[in-house]
Amino acid sequence: MPLNVLVIEDEAAIQELIAVNLESAGHHVLRSSNAEQALTIIHQTLPDLVLLDWMLPGQSGLAIARHLRGSERTRAIPMIMLTAKSAEQDKIIGLEAGADDYVTKPFSPRELLARIKAVMRRRAPQMTDDVIEVQGLRLDPAAHRVSGNGLALSLGPTEFRLLHFFMTHAERVHTRAQLLDQVWGDHVFVEERTVDVHIRRLRKALEATGHDALVETVRGTGYRFTAAA
Ligand code: CA
Repeated sequence: MPLNVLVIEDEAAIQELIAVNLESAGHHVLRSSNAEQALTIIHQTLPDLVLLDWMLPGQSGLAIARHLRGSERTRAIPMIMLTAKSAEQDKIIGLEAGADDYVTKPFSPRELLARIKAVMRRRAPQMTDDVIEVQGLRLDPAAHRVSGNGLALSLGPTEFRLLHFFMTHAERVHTRAQLLDQVWGDHVFVEERTVDVHIRRLRKALEATGHDALVETVRGTGYRFTAAA
């Protein structure tokens, strides 16, 4: 799945190398060379992943990481720190500041892409192309297909994203506000009732194979996708 990756790197050659490699892997790259630029970009568009250099002019990558983790809106963004520092102590400081992983320069583009994949799988599985199957309900993100016990099911784009999020975050209760954030996205102003409308459509689409029972209403809270149904 193509990701919007924000690269915060002040060395032009390294920024270019990263951008070229990410773009050739199908991702979309937003570039910045300091904290101020980066925060302006983040204010406009929430990226799917942030790659940030430790040593930057002005605010350090470490300070940016802490800042992003400290704000409600940006708290969940997966972050990978890039740095020439490789001492164990530095690594610990980076991870404590909220980085999900740590890549030491010089790194190969292949290593960086592998780390990105691993971090996204862990932090935002709904952003990956991994096929997922629960009790005969199978969702293939790359092919954009859903089937129940081998029977093709037809879902609208929002229902597809909703189901993908549910299946990658099963057994947890999600409020309507959380679902809006995660499935509809940032800066989207829709009423919480909209969630109920799409839940109804999703259940309807899953009814043919009885998988609608996996989408539970949790009274007074929200919704849960459960394999225990
Ligand atoms: Ca630097």
